[in-house]
Amino acid sequence: MSHANEVALPAAGGRGERKSLDPALIARFVAIVGERYAITDPAEQQAYLVEMRDLYHGRTPLVLRPGSTAEVAAILKLANETRTPVVPQGGNTGLVGGQVPRETGDEIVLSLKRLDRIREIDASSNTMTCEAGVVLQRAQEAAAEVDRLFPLSLGAEGSCTIGGNLSTNAGGTGALAYGVARDLVLGLEVVLADGRVWNGLGKLKKDNTGYDLKNLFIGAEGTLGVITAAVLKLFPRPRTVSVAFVGLSSPHHALRLLNLAQARAGSAVTSFELMPRIGLEFVLRHMPGTRDPLASPHRWYVVLELSSPTARIDVTAEEILGEALEQGIVEDAALAGSVEQGRAFMHLRHALAEVQRYEGGSIKDDVTVPVSLVPQFIEEATAVAEALVPGCRPVPFGHLGDGNIHFNVSQPVGADKAQFLAHWEEMNARVHAIVARMGGSISAEHGIGQLKRHLLPQVKDPVAYALMQSLKRMLDPNGILNPGKVL
Ligand code: FAD
Ligand code: ZN
Repeated sequence: MSHANEVALPAAGGRGERKSLDPALIARFVAIVGERYAITDPAEQQAYLVEMRDLYHGRTPLVLRPGSTAEVAAILKLANETRTPVVPQGGNTGLVGGQVPRETGDEIVLSLKRLDRIREIDASSNTMTCEAGVVLQRAQEAAAEVDRLFPLSLGAEGSCTIGGNLSTNAGGTGALAYGVARDLVLGLEVVLADGRVWNGLGKLKKDNTGYDLKNLFIGAEGTLGVITAAVLKLFPRPRTVSVAFVGLSSPHHALRLLNLAQARAGSAVTSFELMPRIGLEFVLRHMPGTRDPLASPHRWYVVLELSSPTARIDVTAEEILGEALEQGIVEDAALAGSVEQGRAFMHLRHALAEVQRYEGGSIKDDVTVPVSLVPQFIEEATAVAEALVPGCRPVPFGHLGDGNIHFNVSQPVGADKAQFLAHWEEMNARVHAIVARMGGSISAEHGIGQLKRHLLPQVKDPVAYALMQSLKRMLDPNGILNPGKVL
């Protein structure tokens, strides 16, 4: 079992069968990147074999760190000829075990982090051409330097990479206004399983010359090809940003606030994040330098961001919140007085993803339902969680404006972590039953990876699932690309 806590998390196939790679073959792979960029020492490999929450562990004979698309192509060509499995990896921040090799011991880890050049910024065309290993925060900063915005934003932005963001089709806090990663891409460069390079780095918004191939690779979690570069869309940099930290009594009130804000400010509502009191308490307890912006506790909080590329927003957050106070929708609110304070408010929400581990075991889930059903979903899912494990601490939070809730449940205080985590499958199953009834999705933005692979055939339309299998066979006939993930 690949799980650190010996918990019944689904592991991909191949458990128990240990395989090894021929040393002569390892030497051929090493020769492609040079010894300096090939890691065979198990101690040095560790950082590539365990993901951040310590849920999935794997083994590998070799971590390769190519420095160019040509080297990636040579690696895949050799891997394909010798049927050697390859696990692409970016920042290793993925939450579904997709970037970690299995325990079979014959899978090569292909780290894309050295492909970290920003090849071009074309401010007039509003595009930026980045290699796969560029860290998201660096891409954001590079856009800001030319007075533009790259709007993808998530808690792991200091370490996740553009290649990983596209391969997981990441969402994050900017998706409400700007869409998910998929919506932010104009072109891609991809190395196929047989080593051929598809140069699809077009900057065109309009190009109707056949099938939209880039969208096959976006969200494919490294199972159909290796993304080596992308043309990303840039937007005007916001001139006015107004952030509020709002206390309210329920998700139902949060939904009313969302509706009000969007009715008044439309697309200027660029983030709308929800978190419960217990989530804020976790952050205040474990993240140094944080403080509660409001004078007294509230059961729920919203971080509301309005922004605009013009010097003024027609309706300010203050006006919207004033109206919401009058209507009894919100209980209290703090308006950020500076850019730094606005960032600090958003940090309270981003930090929650990181600090939950300090409260013991946490059963995670990442689902979407129609926005209007979020309050009902939270209510029903909380009830099933509490019925399954009395004393457990549900921490549902996330991107209310996208209908996307991270339904995470922390263990009861003082409980045994492994015993609690043993409820993972059953907890997810009961929550997913509610999601299915509401017409939602069991994976909103984190992907399938190893974690939800066994669930995919149950939830996917059978025709869609069969098409996915056909595409996989066509693009990766020898099954070398991230085997045991997604399909
Ligand atoms: P990795 O974890 O290295 O890889 C992820 C997957 O992509 C794997 O299947 C891997 O094989 C594949 N892959 C990586 N690079 C390539 C490539 N170049 N070509 C082909 N396949 C590749 N996600 C959200 O959507 N929204 C959030 O708000 C959010 N918040 C997060 C907060 C925290 C604190 C953390 C730790 C994670 C969060 N995530 C969130 C998860 C998110 O999916 C990842 O952070 C990010 O998108 C993955 O990027 P990465 O470079 O770390 O990829
Ligand atoms: Zn999220």
